Amino acid sequence: MEIVEKNNISEHEQVVFCHDPASGLKAIVAIHNTSRGAALGGCRMWSYASEDEALQDVLRLSRGMTYKSAMAGLDLGGGKSVIIGNPHTDKNEQLLHAMGRFLNHLQGNYIAAEDSGTSVADLKIMAEESPYVSGITEKPSLSGELRNGDPSPSTAFGTFQGLRAAVKYQLQRDDLKGLRIAVQGLGNVGYRLAEHLAKAGARLWVCDIDRQQVKTAVEKLGATAVSPGEIFSQQVDIFAPCALGAVLNDRSIPQLKAKIVAGAANNQLAEERHGQMLQQHGILYAPDYVINAGGIIDIACERQGLNDQHLNQRLTGIYQTLLDLFARAAHEEQPTNIIANQMAEDRFSVH
Ligand code: NAD
Repeated sequence: MEIVEKNNISEHEQVVFCHDPASGLKAIVAIHNTSRGAALGGCRMWSYASEDEALQDVLRLSRGMTYKSAMAGLDLGGGKSVIIGNPHTDKNEQLLHAMGRFLNHLQGNYIAAEDSGTSVADLKIMAEESPYVSGITEKPSLSGELRNGDPSPSTAFGTFQGLRAAVKYQLQRDDLKGLRIAVQGLGNVGYRLAEHLAKAGARLWVCDIDRQQVKTAVEKLGATAVSPGEIFSQQVDIFAPCALGAVLNDRSIPQLKAKIVAGAANNQLAEERHGQMLQQHGILYAPDYVINAGGIIDIACERQGLNDQHLNQRLTGIYQTLLDLFARAAHEEQPTNIIANQMAEDRFSVH
């Protein structure tokens, strides 16, 4: 296994490249900032077109984790890893074991978690080699059943709390009864969010490219099905993006009739300036990495051995964090994404 460390890349503390010819592993770990604690972040597997594309992705994603954990008030830094390869055809036990051994090289400065292209099962294989893996422990939920390390239920619950905060701030309402909400994407997080919203009395308009998911939401949650192309222009109070990144852009924002954007998807703004565009349209935007921090909060609680009661308290904290953020953004007449970045930067230091 060949391991090469490169210093002075971007604003990152450590960037390490690994090539293991025996297993075919090609991976990069980027540690952005550890001033609050060890860098925790997902291990993504993707068919990157080049090593440079993988590097740019891991640098961007690890930086994002520093901001996310800081805003969630966690004693964790920001890091991420990427495995270069097709998760459907290139993944095997040998490669995952090699990734585990690569993690050991970082000596706990970086802790891996599940991400796109990797599953809890994959992380468990890495954990056979390395203690620096998280989100793999079975734990009792409040209802008493065991649940695996999948953080999606926590992400959905945290997003629900954040959406409630946006409603409180923008619409001066404590409940969601009768509010019209468009949910884009009904996957692990989006469907669970839709369940919370339906239970709270909201009326749902939903879309997904997976028709079965839409059918289930229509049948079980009384949602109205909408085609993916029409989700932005629905006559709703809230738009909840829970599918892809970059959905808030020059084309979609002018279509929005919602007064709030609050959803779980990562990297919702195509560019930072779109936060200002939303503000100019009178739309309150709940910054993605603040509202969707439930997953990292879940993993942090697991690492600290905290039970579900503590976890729920911390997830509910997203409500107050967002209320504070909205108030400061209004006071300073700045877009919410800019204020989120400033609040996060106040919470970590740069060496
Ligand atoms: P997922 O893959 O389970 O769900 C995504 C869903 O979006 C799928 O059902 C997919 O069919 C659908 N979709 C894809 N393209 C679409 C389109 N054009 N229009 C409508 N639907 C489309 O993923 P997930 O775990 O539910 O995550 C959803 C989003 O939340 C992602 O952006 C993810 O990065 C982010 N996120 C997830 C977590 C977590 O804990 N899972 C944590 C933080 C952020």
